[in-house]
Amino acid sequence: MTNTPEKTMNTDSFQGIDPATGQPLPGFFQEATADEVAQACEKAAIAFLEYRKKSGAEKADFLEKIADEIEAIGDELLQRAQAESGLPLPRLTGERGRTTGQLRLFAEYLREGSWVNARIDTALPDRQPLPRPDLRQMLRPLGPVGVFGASNFPLAFSVAGGDTASALAAGCPIVVKGHPAHPGTSQLVGDAILRAVTACGMPDGTFAMVQGRTTAVGMAIVEHPAIKAVGFTGSLRGGRALFDAAARRPEPIPVYAEMGSTNPVFFLPQILKERGSALAQNYVSSVTLGAGQFCTNPGVAVLQQSPEADTFMEEAATAVTASKPATMLTQGIQRAFAEGIGKLTTAEGVQTLGQATAADSFANGTPILLKTTAEALLANQALAEEVFGPGSVLVEAKGREQLLAVARSLEGHLTATVWGTNEELPDYADLLEILEQKVGRLLINGFPTGVEVSHAMQHGGPYPATSDSRSTSVGTNAILRFARPVCYQNFPDALLPDELKVANPLNIQRLVDGKWTS
Ligand code: NAP
Repeated sequence: MTNTPEKTMNTDSFQGIDPATGQPLPGFFQEATADEVAQACEKAAIAFLEYRKKSGAEKADFLEKIADEIEAIGDELLQRAQAESGLPLPRLTGERGRTTGQLRLFAEYLREGSWVNARIDTALPDRQPLPRPDLRQMLRPLGPVGVFGASNFPLAFSVAGGDTASALAAGCPIVVKGHPAHPGTSQLVGDAILRAVTACGMPDGTFAMVQGRTTAVGMAIVEHPAIKAVGFTGSLRGGRALFDAAARRPEPIPVYAEMGSTNPVFFLPQILKERGSALAQNYVSSVTLGAGQFCTNPGVAVLQQSPEADTFMEEAATAVTASKPATMLTQGIQRAFAEGIGKLTTAEGVQTLGQATAADSFANGTPILLKTTAEALLANQALAEEVFGPGSVLVEAKGREQLLAVARSLEGHLTATVWGTNEELPDYADLLEILEQKVGRLLINGFPTGVEVSHAMQHGGPYPATSDSRSTSVGTNAILRFARPVCYQNFPDALLPDELKVANPLNIQRLVDGKWTS
C-alpha cells in the first residue's frame, strides 16, 4: 500500500511510468491485497460512527488543513505529477490551485451550513381531524465512500479531488483507489490528507488509499459491504463496470460515475459569416488543448452547408495541420486514441480534413480533424462517441432541419454549445430546447473546456455522460450525492441536531412551515 523506494520490484509492485519516455520512475507501489482493501473499508465504517457527528466548522477546519498540507508539499508534488502525466507545469500549478480552492470552497459552504436543506413543519396539535406531529428533516451523510480518480486530472479529479472533498464535507469517510497512471502523485496527496486527519483529530480510518493496477482492487472497494456510495471519474467502460457491480451487490449502492462526453458544438450560419476564421482557430485550440484530454473536449461540431462553412473547415484544417503532437497521459490512452481515430477514418462517409505531423516518440497524440455528413452520422451514431484525445469530427448538415435531426439523435453529454449572433439565436430556440434535454451545461458562444468550481456549476449530464444526471461532480452541489434526508418526528429539542433545534443556533436558512427563514 505504501511507497517503499528501497523495495525491490516483485509481481505485486509497480512503478509510475514517464509517458514522455516510457521509462519507469523512482519508487515502487504495492498492489493492495484483498485483506488490505477490506481493512480500509472496515476502518472507514468505524470512523464513520464518529466522523458523521463532526460539526460543519470541524469539517471545514479539516478540509482547509488538507489544502494547507497539499500546498506544503511544494514543488515536489508538481514535479512528480508532471513526470507521471506529461502535463506541463503551468497547467499542473493551476490544477493544484483548483484542488485546494475546491477544498476551501467546501469549507466555506460548510461554515455557512444551509446545505443540509433543513425543513421544519411545526406541530399542529389541534388540527382536525388529526393533529400534525412536529417534523424536522435534514440531510445526513451516507457512510463510507469509495473514490476513483481519472488519469487526466492527477490532482483535481484524483485523491483529493472533487469527489473526496464533497464526500468528506458531507461527513463520509473515504477509501480512494489511486489511479495507476500517477501512483507517486497519489501517494504524496494521500499522505498529506493523513497528516490533516491527525492534525485535526479526525478518527483513524477517515481516509485511506489503496493502490493497484488491476481492476480487482477497485472492484473489491465497490463490493465491500461497508461502502455506501461511489464517486468515479473516468471512462465509460470503467464507470459502467463499477455501476453494474454496485447494482449486483446484495445491498445495491449509488455510483456517481462521471464518464466520457463529446460535447457537441453547433455553429450557426450568421456567426460563421462574421467570425468564421477566428472561430476555426479557436475551435482547433480547444480540441488540441492539453492533447485533447479533457472530458469537456469538443469532439463534434455541426455546421450547415454554406460557403462560410467550407471556409471554416479549410481554416480549421490548416490550423490542425500546423498544430503539434503532444505527450498523452499514458501509452494505453495514446493507443486507444489511435485505434479510435483509425475506426473513424475507415467509417463510411468520413474523410480526413487535416492532421498534424506525427512525432516519433513514446506516447504522442497527433491532432486530427475529420469531416462527415449529417446523413452518415444519423446512420452511425458511433461517429459521435468520445475518442479521448486531440481529435474532432466536423459534421455538415444540409440545412436547419438536418442540424436539428443531428441534435435530436445525440446521446447524453456533459455540455453542448451553440455559437450564433444575437440576431440568429432566437431563431434557434428549438435547437436549445433539444440540447437542454441532452446535457447538464449549455453554453452560448464559448468553449466547453474550462469548468468553474462554484455554486452554480453543473458537471454531469444524461447517460452515458454520467450514471445519474441529477448529480454534479464539480461545484458545491456535489455534496448532495453523499447525503440522504432523515426526518425526526416529535423529537425533544435537546436530542435534535443543531441544524434543526428550535432556536436555530447555527443561524442557517430553513424552510419553516413552508417559508424560508434564518
Ligand atoms: P479509467 O481508465 O476508466 O480509470 C479510472 C479509474 O477507474 C482507475 O483507477 C481505474 O483503475 C479504474 N477502473 C477502470 N475500469 C475499471 C473496472 N472495470 N473495474 C475496476 N476499476 C476500474 O479512466 P481514465 O482513462 O483514467 O480517464 C479518462 C476518461 O475519463 C475519459 O473518458 C474522460 O472523458 C473521462 N473523464 C471524465 C470526467 C468527468 O467529469 N465526466 C473528468 C475527467 C475525465 P485501473 O486502471 O487499475 O483499472
